[in-house]
Amino acid sequence: MVPRGEKRSRPRASAFADELAPMVGVWLRLLNAHVPDASGRCRACTAGGTGVPSEPWPCVIRGMAELARISHSAGAA
Ligand SMILES: [Zn+2]
Repeated sequence: MVPRGEKRSRPRASAFADELAPMVGVWLRLLNAHVPDASGRCRACTAGGTGVPSEPWPCVIRGMAELARISHSAGAA
């Protein structure tokens, strides 16, 4: 099934990234926060507020922020 109203068929995640793309400050902050620690886990994605990194890096949020950056540079070009 082809989604209507979209120029390109893209995964649903990138729709959110497109929303995020103009908010440069937001995704820049995400890119700066969601960085790997020494054991390859995301520093920002911690388990239930324990401060213990739980998510393998790159995490979903990092991927989203990367897509937003790509989308932003594509749109600004
Ligand atoms: Zn993360």
